[in-house]
Amino acid sequence: MTQPHPTLMLAHRMQTLGTETAFEVLARAKALEAEGRSIINLGIGQPDFRTPAHIVEAGIKALADGHHGYTPAPGIPQLREAVAADLHRRHGVEVSPSRVVVVPGGKVTMFFAMLMFGEPGAEILYPNPGFPIYESAIRFSGATPVPIPLHEETGFSFKAEEVLERVTKQTRLIVLNSPANPTGGVVPKEELDKLVAGLVRFPHVAVLSDEIYSAMTYDGARHVSLLSYKELEGRVILLDGWSKTYAMTGWRLGYAVWPDALVDSATRLAVNCHSCVNASAQWAGIAALEGPQDEVRKMVAAFAERRRFIVDALNRLPGFRCVKPGGAFYAFPNVTGTGLDAKTLQTRLLEEAGVATIAGTSFGAYGEGFLRFSYAASLAELEEAVGRIRRWLEKNTA
Ligand code: PLP
Repeated sequence: MTQPHPTLMLAHRMQTLGTETAFEVLARAKALEAEGRSIINLGIGQPDFRTPAHIVEAGIKALADGHHGYTPAPGIPQLREAVAADLHRRHGVEVSPSRVVVVPGGKVTMFFAMLMFGEPGAEILYPNPGFPIYESAIRFSGATPVPIPLHEETGFSFKAEEVLERVTKQTRLIVLNSPANPTGGVVPKEELDKLVAGLVRFPHVAVLSDEIYSAMTYDGARHVSLLSYKELEGRVILLDGWSKTYAMTGWRLGYAVWPDALVDSATRLAVNCHSCVNASAQWAGIAALEGPQDEVRKMVAAFAERRRFIVDALNRLPGFRCVKPGGAFYAFPNVTGTGLDAKTLQTRLLEEAGVATIAGTSFGAYGEGFLRFSYAASLAELEEAVGRIRRWLEKNTA
């Protein structure tokens, strides 16, 4: 939480805003490197690949062609059409391009949804451990965050009953995320089916489905988009984007599919907040969706290989046990066997072993006892990181 200012009279809501620890750990890792220390950064959640060349070229060409001005607030029509076509290809769903609102990154949709639904007295359900901005943005909106606990035993999927039993008259929105950050968990279709069947009883509840890792699933784990459920028509907000799939985190390009009735509100928020996404990034986004997908396939294949390596290696560390994640590029081992709490382990591994990870508690209270490893790093780096951790554990834990 941010501190109150000693003299200036900031709005109370500023004290409710949380943060994303990965950025703090990144800053500390960079500071240690600047002192000459060797640090392996498995903290930050972004692909270690470059944006595919044809996408970069499309961005450069757009600028050279004079696409440097404002665009329509919800995005250029060609990009909204390309998104609708991509959703049809990947999920078999028919979506009108008029429902697509392009925004600067996946996070913006999250914030807009919380502003749209959240206010004092409202309740919003969110996964815990989960992406920290959910809880932060819910609190900022004034709503009450209601955690949906995720368990190691179910591979960090939710149980539909556990979600449904938390729904009250005050519940406005449920946030779901599969494949998930920080756990890599993928919700099986049967569990989604059960949840959807249950939600039919609660027509006042909307769902924000964060599917930003939808392109990354492994070993037969299958991603099912919540958009494909007719029963929830009119109340699903799909969050997706280019950051993870196309290694474009710094371009700041994402989108949402809003129910028809919410498109105008989302567009107004965009007009008030950022006007539009920078034009060249939007043209690059079209090249990403319509161009060859081999680079994406290569990245996912590399993640699959690293996942195999890191999960096995973590399971062999004293005091660690790690379920095999079905998607994304995170491993979330249980580290209670080390006798150290997550935050202490995060700090000591960074400062003393030179490996940046993120404590599970950065993703909510239910993350205690876990550490997040982003395996978006080379196999050689992963091997070196696990070796350093092993040596540190052998010296420092019983
Ligand atoms: N949703 C989840 C689950 C994420 O992990 C992230 C980024 O780490 C985002 C959304 C935000 O993505 P973007 O960088 O496009 O804002």
